[in-house]
Amino acid sequence: MAVTRLPVGLDTPLRSIVGRLASSFTAKQITTARELLDWLPRRYVDPKRPTDFTELAAGEQVVVVGTVRHAESRRMRGGRRSIFEAVLVDEAGHRLLLTFFRPYGHPGKLVPGARVVCAGKVDRYRQHWQLVHPEYHVLGGEGDDGPVGYGEGPVALYPEIPKVGHMKVAQAVDLVLHAMGDTVPDPVPEEVRQARDLPGLMTAYRFVHQPRDWAEKNLGWERLAWQEAFVIQATLARLRHSSEAVPAVPRPPREGGLAEAFHAQLPFALTDGQQRIVEEVRRDLARDRPMHRLLQGEVGSGKTVVALLAMLEVVDNGGQAALLAPTEVLAAQHHRSITAMLGPLAEAGMLGGADRGTRVALLTGSQGAAQRRAALLQAASGEAGIIVGTHALIQEQVQLADLGLVVVDEQHRFGVEQRDALRAKGADGTVPHVLVMTATPIPRTVAMTVYGDMEVSTLRELPGGRQPITTHVVTADRAHWVSRTWERVAEEVAAGGQVYVVCPRIGEEDDPDLPEGDTVGPGMPVPEPPEGQEGPTLLGVHQVARALRSLPATRALRIAAVHGRQPAEDKDAVMRDFAAGAVDVLVATTVIEVGVDVPNATQMVILDADRFGISQLHQLRGRVGRGSKPGLCLLLTQGTDEDAPERLRAVASTTDGFELARLDLEQRREGDVLGASQSGGRSGLRHLRLTNPRHAEFIAQAHEDAWAVVQADPDLEQHPALLDALSRLDAERAAYLERG
Ligand code: ADP
Ligand code: MG
Repeated sequence: MAVTRLPVGLDTPLRSIVGRLASSFTAKQITTARELLDWLPRRYVDPKRPTDFTELAAGEQVVVVGTVRHAESRRMRGGRRSIFEAVLVDEAGHRLLLTFFRPYGHPGKLVPGARVVCAGKVDRYRQHWQLVHPEYHVLGGEGDDGPVGYGEGPVALYPEIPKVGHMKVAQAVDLVLHAMGDTVPDPVPEEVRQARDLPGLMTAYRFVHQPRDWAEKNLGWERLAWQEAFVIQATLARLRHSSEAVPAVPRPPREGGLAEAFHAQLPFALTDGQQRIVEEVRRDLARDRPMHRLLQGEVGSGKTVVALLAMLEVVDNGGQAALLAPTEVLAAQHHRSITAMLGPLAEAGMLGGADRGTRVALLTGSQGAAQRRAALLQAASGEAGIIVGTHALIQEQVQLADLGLVVVDEQHRFGVEQRDALRAKGADGTVPHVLVMTATPIPRTVAMTVYGDMEVSTLRELPGGRQPITTHVVTADRAHWVSRTWERVAEEVAAGGQVYVVCPRIGEEDDPDLPEGDTVGPGMPVPEPPEGQEGPTLLGVHQVARALRSLPATRALRIAAVHGRQPAEDKDAVMRDFAAGAVDVLVATTVIEVGVDVPNATQMVILDADRFGISQLHQLRGRVGRGSKPGLCLLLTQGTDEDAPERLRAVASTTDGFELARLDLEQRREGDVLGASQSGGRSGLRHLRLTNPRHAEFIAQAHEDAWAVVQADPDLEQHPALLDALSRLDAERAAYLERG
């Protein structure tokens, strides 16, 4: 009976190519040819530049290159067995002993003058470094029967697999590369490869595993990174394509409507940036396809006004707009400020309300039953044109008469599912337009990778007259600065300003009092940390509020505290008092981080500032200097001047949010960038480094090409290999990319 041999492909089981060797890889879930080829070298050694043996360390798994200086077999003392030893030297002549207790086969290969790659675990033997029974391969030697694939080019070193030597991996990879032939289905289409001058997939694998020189190695890796960008962009392009397939109700500008009236009554002129984005959004809303736009802009750049104009346009068209805030504090604040900005326009049906006005309803998870019922009714009847709320808003029971626009504020706090649930609430068969606002500037590469399916609008300028924020780092070794801080706070209040004091933790109500003294902050004596807690005592909201109430400099001030564990009404009441000027100093956790807008607040003191990340500090600081007076931000840290973290200095040195976002990105791992902290998993980015300028270029190229491919062939019928690659994007990443 004739046996048909299936052609070897990337999904061929490893066992049918490499036989018993395959079992070495099962521990790493490597069972197919593709999985082995994707087991990428960790680094390379350059056989032309031999390893410096003085840099070896006992117990380390190494791969080294050297020259055999001397080799001999000798009989073990008293025994019949013999031992073979070869002395390998590096360029400077440092020695490494290769020892074989079963000499058979080695003396013929490890001859003086031979250049050898060796892999094994380094030991110390007498005065020497030693490798016992190393795997090795003679470079460029005759009768090349060792682990194949090693030539004069860089030698690939693989991540360690327990009990499997480097050379076994190299050998298996070599077998697979040979079995595979030159072409395999390539997710990057031929015409794209040609246009971008990219090698084919198999060539890339060969370059990565068995480069003939460093240029090939780089080319191979770049091609894999490019492919990754391409597959991600294709995913986003398809997402976009499918969301374009669902209709939305067009909400074109209406003459004589609320939007126009509101615009006319604004006490300021829109900045050029605001004007431009208002136009962009207006065009989007007029289309019968859902808007899908990300609005990013510095803290205080005036995003809310832009969003409000969009919401009013929808209301002018008989629809409703929902504004989602990440916290109750913010939702309440948006409700307050929108109501205030609209004035009579938000008092439809009330005495003194404008004829064609609307209502703004607030829906949060914690409001009283009666309030909630009233708000739900307004939402369901359509009486409220604007509904502001937290995610409670999207619970099942909320009925909206005609949801035309969803505005998501401070998007990074929102989960994907929550947004999706709301998007489903459009009128029959349509979806609402979506505008996502974020105050965390996103570097272009991240925007394209994470939000690539959205249009991005960026507000770079701040409204004119906005005062700069000055930031200083105050360290524990500057005791006078620390006490001066609180005097500055009192002076600020005396001059009519208000102050935020931010702590890294809430603490417990019964936390021990801070020692009475003339200061609070770094350098002061602190209570012993509770048992079992390590590191310095971090100041808590309760403690600090109490301490400031007794500190000579601040005890006359009106001090209040706000944090996430308070009931919503309490939080709300405190924020209202602060906004109304009835509180001078607000001691808070990061609940005030996003969006809180009290123009009279001019100073911020951040305690244990080293506990916060760059973007977070920048966000926090954005709470001050929002009015006509300049802002001051003091970053206190228990460290000394010398070891104050670099990021504190960075935050103190610039107020350019984009620059800070870039620094933040550099300091974080890619996983965090793509929101792994939100989803709790890894980002799945294997090759792309969003901070690498060359990769940024790849992303831009891949974006262009992938969108063109998807445009021409949305179902990817002509591109099965790409379709296959898309389906292999792991579920988690796909879910992540669907955000927005
Ligand atoms: P963001 O949400 O982008 O942080 P906001 O929309 O809250 O900023 O605006 C911050 C403050 O600036 C608000 O008090 C707002 O009324 C005010 N503002 C917005 N646009 C302008 C403008 N063009 N000129 C002056 N002030 C503005
Ligand atoms: Mg805002």
